[in-house]
Order: sequence, then C-alpha cells, then structure tokens
Amino acid sequence: MKYFGAHVSASGGVVNAPRNAKAIGAGAFALFTKNQRQWLAPQLTQADIEAFRRECELLGYQPHQILPHDSYLINLGHPDAEGLAKSRESFVEEMRRCELLGLDRLNFHPGSHLGRIDIEESLNRVAESINIALERTRGVTAVIENTAGQGTNLGHTFEQIAHIIERVEDKSRVGFCIDTCHAFAAGYDLSSREACERTFETIDKIVSLDYLRGMHLNEAMRPLGSRIDRHERLGQGQIGWECFEFIARDSRFDNMPLVLETIDETLWPQEIAKLYELAGQQPPTW
Ligand SMILES: [Zn+2]
Ligand SMILES: [Zn+2]
Repeated sequence: MKYFGAHVSASGGVVNAPRNAKAIGAGAFALFTKNQRQWLAPQLTQADIEAFRRECELLGYQPHQILPHDSYLINLGHPDAEGLAKSRESFVEEMRRCELLGLDRLNFHPGSHLGRIDIEESLNRVAESINIALERTRGVTAVIENTAGQGTNLGHTFEQIAHIIERVEDKSRVGFCIDTCHAFAAGYDLSSREACERTFETIDKIVSLDYLRGMHLNEAMRPLGSRIDRHERLGQGQIGWECFEFIARDSRFDNMPLVLETIDETLWPQEIAKLYELAGQQPPTW
C-alpha cells in the first residue's frame, strides 16, 4: 500500500494537520509539532494530544503514515559544546512531543559542522546525539534525512548517513528518509527509470533500504550535482515524472509516508492524485 501526502500546516494546533491532509486527498502527511523557527514552544496540553489522536483515528491516519519534522534550529553535530547541548535538549523535547502524540518516527536533518570541526567528528556527534535521545524516550524512531549538501551541511552522501546509523546503538529505532530533490542536488541521478534503478541500488548497498522510514517527493529546480536545495513542482524540474512513477510502482516504498514538499501547495491535490494513479491505487476515501 502506498501512502502519498504533503507537509501540511499545523498552525492553530496540531489537530489541524490531519484535517489539512484530508482536505487535499492525502493518505500521508508531515507536520511540525511546534514552530520550526523557534527554540521554545508551549507544552502540548492533554486536550491537544487527545484531539490529535482522535482526529487521526477518525480520518484513518496511522503512525506509519505520518512523518513529523523537527525544528530547523537543531544541529546535532554542532561544533560547540553549548550549541550541541541546546540542540540535544531540544531534540529530546521534539521526540517526547511525538511520543505524546502517539507518533512513531521523527524526521530531521543530520546537522552542520560549520567548518569548525571535521566531518567525521561532526557525524560522530550526530550519532551520539541520537543515542542520548533514544535513551531518554520510548517508541519513536530517529529518521535521518539526506541533504543537498549546501554549505557545511552534513548528510549529502549516503555514506555519511550510513556512518551515523552504524554508530547508533539501538538499530531498531534509527532510520532514514530520502528526499529526491536533495539526492539529485547531491549528484544521485534520478532523471530516468534506469538512473533510478542504479541510484536506489547504490543507496541500498550503502545504507540498506530496510532502514527507510519515509520519503520526501520533491522535484529539483537546479541541475544534477548542483548542491543547491531548491524544490520545484513535480514534473516541472530537472528530475521528471519517470522518477516519481518509478517510486509509485516499486514495493520497496510501500507502507511509509511519501510526502511532498513541492513549492506550489495549490497543486498538492493534483500531484497526490497523480501519484496514486501512477501507483495503480485508489486514493483514500472518507
Ligand atoms: Zn525534505
Ligand atoms: Zn529541501
């Protein structure tokens, strides 16, 4: 079973995310459980938690159809002790929010070495950060997203993702998420069926697709290997529909959230409907 959706707004309360997902015909969704540009957020109230759980149940969204995303401020590979400690604290808090909401995974960008420590040291810090978070929470898997590799960001190669996973003690609660735009920007070709076959085989060899817990289905505005993270509407960029058709028809991507972060949200209902059509599957009905 394929679950296609988008990163929907949770403004006005987390309960609005499943409602917004339903409104666009989504069978999956991503959300921020707090403002993604601020360190501090009010605690989730019992009423928030119950409303979210009830709405998900009512609308048929199970945890494996939902991919929460953490704050952009968190840097789990931070070179400085203070920045690292603050990021780790905040990440644990985000994992706890997911746990309270009954969610089973949290998607995050690995971090950035900021040019002040070497890449390996920074990656080791990310792994240690995950170990700390897993020890302090229950039931939520840490899902590392590949990046486009802009600036000093970690995680644009799947070797780096594998390096982190290897150092996580509880392998049952670590996974990764492939963002198609980021992979393409980082130099992994996805622009044809054959290219997709090769790229996913490469990723499977390096990380193992057994660890895959979700995907971000994004078009890339910039060419292969640009290292620039600019999303585009599906089929309107450098990747093309063949890639999304490949993913829609490949059972290795079943039973996990496949979410759009494409730039025109007014097109999400059409993009989602098209993906379901390519998968040969009926979109969810209520
Ligand atoms: Zn993404
Ligand atoms: Zn991006």
